[in-house]
Amino acid sequence: MYSFANKTYRLIPLFITLKIPIFLDFDYNIILLLSFQIHVNILTNSRYSHFLIEGLHTKHLMTLKKTKNGGNTMKGFAMLEIGKTGWIEKERPKCGPLDAIIKPLALSPCTSDIHTVWEGALGDRHNMILGHEGCGVVEEVGELVKDFKVGDRVMVAAITPDWSSLEAQGGYPMHSGGMLSGWKFSNFKDGVFGEYFHVNDADGNLAHMPEAVSPEEACMLSDMVPTGFHGVELADIQFGDTVLVNGIGPVGLMSVAGANLKGASRIICVGTRPACREAAKKYGATDFISYKEGSIDEQVLELTGGKGVDKAIVAGGGVESFDPIIKALKPCGKIGNVNYLGSGTYVTIPRVEWGCGMGHKMITGGLMPGGRLRLEKLASLIEVGKLDVRHLITHRFDGFEHVEDALMLMKDKPADLIKPVVNIGK
Ligand code: NDP
Ligand code: ZN
Repeated sequence: MYSFANKTYRLIPLFITLKIPIFLDFDYNIILLLSFQIHVNILTNSRYSHFLIEGLHTKHLMTLKKTKNGGNTMKGFAMLEIGKTGWIEKERPKCGPLDAIIKPLALSPCTSDIHTVWEGALGDRHNMILGHEGCGVVEEVGELVKDFKVGDRVMVAAITPDWSSLEAQGGYPMHSGGMLSGWKFSNFKDGVFGEYFHVNDADGNLAHMPEAVSPEEACMLSDMVPTGFHGVELADIQFGDTVLVNGIGPVGLMSVAGANLKGASRIICVGTRPACREAAKKYGATDFISYKEGSIDEQVLELTGGKGVDKAIVAGGGVESFDPIIKALKPCGKIGNVNYLGSGTYVTIPRVEWGCGMGHKMITGGLMPGGRLRLEKLASLIEVGKLDVRHLITHRFDGFEHVEDALMLMKDKPADLIKPVVNIGK
């Protein structure tokens, strides 16, 4: 709300994007696409039935150079170094015999991108295209790929393991090739925020996008659903369990939904953003507490009559989060952590409440597994109407050039944000 001349106005931001193609040669081999955004803030006041234009400014979004017949370069939004991002031009990825090259249909930034760039959580990276959540159309496939062809609409998980590795055969595909090495996008190679992106082991890592699943829903299946649900698997939720979900951003919200599907009884959520609390109720949350209003363990013990919870899923907070959760957990309780601990050196565990080492309180922290079968199974929950990921999507952008805006929104985390999606179209 804004006050002006003793009246209260509601602010409605309006964005208009202008795209002006400039053809540099007569065969249209080189086209410069200039994109501008006009931003108008309209202040409305229904009582006085008039509005004011509060501000008008334009922002040059990007200049995209396109070449006909698959020119060799592409644009991407990248981490330039720790704390710095920007648009870069790079060579298009090459397709190996088992791989695929995908042209994105929809993309979404992740809190993990924020840890990676602004906390330097993975160490420094230079000119690495960001992003690991997206879906698209197959542009190119390797000669050994069996189940996908050019033009297929596909979903892709954020974690893309090498399925023939020993780790994958051992049941830990996310660590194929070394700890966390199944996480390749925007870690060991360019991510999905490019005009094209590369997927290794395409038969294992792609899944056909069902008719009933839209591109923006498919984006939620890249990471939010499989990660949130992995928290549920790690915490081993059983029928009737009382569950604590620490953090109800999009990942924690999918843990709430997953715990509900697994038959949890009470689901106690930690988080304060109103939009997240509203969505959590839709996914099955029964109680809310705030980490800003006293200690989590005391609030949980009060809610549960001193008993504590059977299971806990950690999808928010920092290295200090485990202390109160151990205190709030019953003996033999299990904690599934999917939170990416972006800073700090040690996780502390309270000795006495951990049963002096003998309380059978288990903590498992895990990166989600990825893979086509998992994607297909999770998509089937959307297809039959048992999971509605649309409650996660609060902000939508149209056009590849808005990847930057979506990422900055994720960094700022306004109160009404859960997840932004950038729709790119055909
Ligand atoms: P968000 O930042 O959107 O949500 C974090 C949640 O944690 C919010 O509900 C926030 O509350 C809450 N929170 C913040 N501080 C505390 C605290 N001290 N104690 C308890 N709760 C707190 O994150 P996302 O849902 O997008 O992601 C969650 C985590 O999962 C991130 O660290 C992300 O990097 C990680 N991740 C892990 C993956 C994996 O494979 N393991 C994959 C993808 C993401 P509030 O409402 O007040 O903001
Ligand atoms: Zn992610």
